[in-house]
Amino acid sequence: MKLAIESIPGAGLDLKLDDKTSWVADMVKNVLMRENLIPEKYAGSLRIGKVNDNIHLDGSLNLVFKSSCHRCLKEFPFSLDIPLNMNLTPQYHSDEEPSFQSKQEELELNADDLDFSFYDGHEINLSDIVGEQVVLALPPVFTCSENCKGLCAQCGQNLNEVACLCAPKDIANAPWAALKTLKGSPK
Ligand SMILES: [Zn+2]
Ligand SMILES: [Zn+2]
Repeated sequence: MKLAIESIPGAGLDLKLDDKTSWVADMVKNVLMRENLIPEKYAGSLRIGKVNDNIHLDGSLNLVFKSSCHRCLKEFPFSLDIPLNMNLTPQYHSDEEPSFQSKQEELELNADDLDFSFYDGHEINLSDIVGEQVVLALPPVFTCSENCKGLCAQCGQNLNEVACLCAPKDIANAPWAALKTLKGSPK
């Protein structure tokens, strides 16, 4: 969703982030589907403030979705609280605004320390900005619990539910059992 900078009132703009807002629904779906996650529900809010051309975003998004456990393949619900705090400052092009170049370089030096980003032109793309925060908040691996025992490499039994009678050394390899089952599955 593109938002024109000049359309942001001086008093700021308050947005609801829920499934009734189509750009939020599209953004959540796009980001989660890419990671094989199934959106369940989400809600949040975003305040957009403006001081001169500098934009400040402040809000949060709670996201509930389904993921498959990487060890035992069971689907489980996952909830994330994603903070949305960011400062955006206009990117000036050297041919347009040469006097701003040194200021911009100075800001870029600090960009790693602060939640600073640049926007180009006269609008910001909220789908991209919020979507990026969602991607950054996703854990690299999903497991249903820290102690998930995974599947037995030999018989495929979910070892969280019941222990099988296979040799115990295979339990150590249990995380790989999920991969084997995937490869051999008829789907
Ligand atoms: Zn699991
Ligand atoms: Zn077994």
